Amino acid sequence: MSDNRPKQSVELLADSPYVLRTDNSKDVPENNIKTALASGNSGFLHSFTTGSAVDGPGIRVVAWTSGCQFKCLYCHNPDTWKIRNGIPVTIERATATLEKYVAGLKIMGGGFTLSGGEPLMQDRFAVNLFTAAKKMGIHTALDTNGSLGNRLSDSDLEKIDVVLLDIKAWNEENHKRITGYQIAPVLEFARRLGSLKKPVWIRFVMVPGYTDNPSEAKMIAKFASDLGNVERVDVLPFHQMGRFKWKELGLRYKLEGLEPPAPEDVQKICTQFREEGLKTY
Ligand code: SF4
Repeated sequence: MSDNRPKQSVELLADSPYVLRTDNSKDVPENNIKTALASGNSGFLHSFTTGSAVDGPGIRVVAWTSGCQFKCLYCHNPDTWKIRNGIPVTIERATATLEKYVAGLKIMGGGFTLSGGEPLMQDRFAVNLFTAAKKMGIHTALDTNGSLGNRLSDSDLEKIDVVLLDIKAWNEENHKRITGYQIAPVLEFARRLGSLKKPVWIRFVMVPGYTDNPSEAKMIAKFASDLGNVERVDVLPFHQMGRFKWKELGLRYKLEGLEPPAPEDVQKICTQFREEGLKTY
């Protein structure tokens, strides 16, 4: 990228992914975006954040990618849906950013997590970043909705120590209602990870009236248990921290008045996972 080289002036580090970021790649020519996606030599990031204790084992540095084909009704980062909202970042810049934290991550038994958005919208960049992280000797985690898992070869997956896999619903109709997409590719990826014995943490967002149906949670629990590689299930209560983003982006937010689930209801869903022999958090 010569004349059209991505701008590198925007601060990559953010206090949290809840900072609204838009249009950071709006001037990047379409061809450059295509080339970046194909090669993985550059990517598009909402931000880097540090100090996460919930995105993998230990303390994590997280890179948040832009681009997601799902449109989850409860998404708390809809500014990451469009690739063009992300900051154009060369692999060298992303690697150098991560490198600053390597010593601390090793001391704290943490690692690097790639989240989003959907990181596999930029699968080559993701693999390049994971490869760089492994060369630095740190633990790696991919946080994904799973629908583009077939973009990763078995050898790509060797660069990833744990997959944080969202299962958003079990019932096909409900999955489409919540995400706009089919569940089949997600489950196919989950089965493949099972056959590879790749460690997986399932993430299940509990949304009152949408995903709190006990029979649906039961089916997910049975499926996860049968895989044999699920180390834990994180039952995440729906919250409203991203509501302001929908408003700022001019998007219609259907969950405007929805309250987070009661703690005892979350515990009931956790119990269903535990009954299938899974650890929940
Ligand atoms: S998969 Fe994640 S980033 Fe994509 S729409 Fe759903 S919640 Fe948002």
